[in-house]
Amino acid sequence: MSDAAFICELVVMSGKGGTGKTSVTASLAVLAGSAVLADCDVDASNLPLVLDPREQRRETFTGGVRARIRREDCTACGQCKALCRFDAIFFDGPGHGRLPHTYRVDSAACEGCGVCHDVCPEHAIDLEPTEGGEWFVSETRFGPLLHARLRPGHGNSGRLVTLVRDQARQVAEAAGRRLILVDGPPGIGCPVIASLTGATRVLAVTEPTPSGEHDLERLLALARHFSIPAWVCVNKHDLNADMTLQIERRAAALGATVTERIPYDPAVTAAQRRGRPVVDVDHGPAAAAIRKLWERVRPFLADPPGPQLDTGRPAG
Ligand code: SF4
Ligand code: SF4
Repeated sequence: MSDAAFICELVVMSGKGGTGKTSVTASLAVLAGSAVLADCDVDASNLPLVLDPREQRRETFTGGVRARIRREDCTACGQCKALCRFDAIFFDGPGHGRLPHTYRVDSAACEGCGVCHDVCPEHAIDLEPTEGGEWFVSETRFGPLLHARLRPGHGNSGRLVTLVRDQARQVAEAAGRRLILVDGPPGIGCPVIASLTGATRVLAVTEPTPSGEHDLERLLALARHFSIPAWVCVNKHDLNADMTLQIERRAAALGATVTERIPYDPAVTAAQRRGRPVVDVDHGPAAAAIRKLWERVRPFLADPPGPQLDTGRPAG
């Protein structure tokens, strides 16, 4: 049996961007004080913008492969083009002594599926590793931060998310830290699944709008699928009191635990403009609500959830 110390991985999620998820994550990082932080929104990494990181390490992410045809070996049979589902192969490549043209792969369109490589009778196609982006280890005032930048148009965000999470765990283990705080990607696609798989708990941040409710339902379904206890926090709740109640009832019916609401507060945007988490610079209503939120969830982060899918519902 392993005697490794338990490390809680709390993933802050939202069904779409712009709900205040990153502001909440950054403030929780301040309040936690000794967490390892991971920004898994690798398509649009925002956590570094409010945590003033100092980069310590930078690595290349080789996120997949692209096909390349060796023109001297291509006999222009066309089989690769016929089978490429992504229309990435064209008959306008350079010729050689025997042919005026050969086939060519458009690397921007190639998804690296490898079908052309497998079918080419001349073995004229190589699959070459591509640079998909970069990932970083940085220091912040609130703990080490793992973050990444995916190249535009690169389709391997799920793998990069997994890499960032793995690195965050390694840093936490090496430093003896017991909490990994993850700023998850928005939506419910592949990067979100990569962020949730094996996580300990989810905090879903939503806004009181019909789309907020719809996105939250999908997110909670995903958390439930992975048997991860979920908290729900309605941000800017006072913008629509009825909708807030409706969302909270729906969340409870779906098995999530409704936690502290956060009111609309211009101090949040003002703090963002200064590149600081709101609880670090303000004591207004939003900062106060996030502090209460932290006090409510904190006791549940020390131990693994129980076998009964413990929802983290505070007593009383
Ligand atoms: S399958 Fe091979 S030989 Fe045929 S066109 Fe494609 S690269 Fe050339
Ligand atoms: S690897 Fe797949 S997507 Fe890329 S060119 Fe070959 S068949 Fe098309």
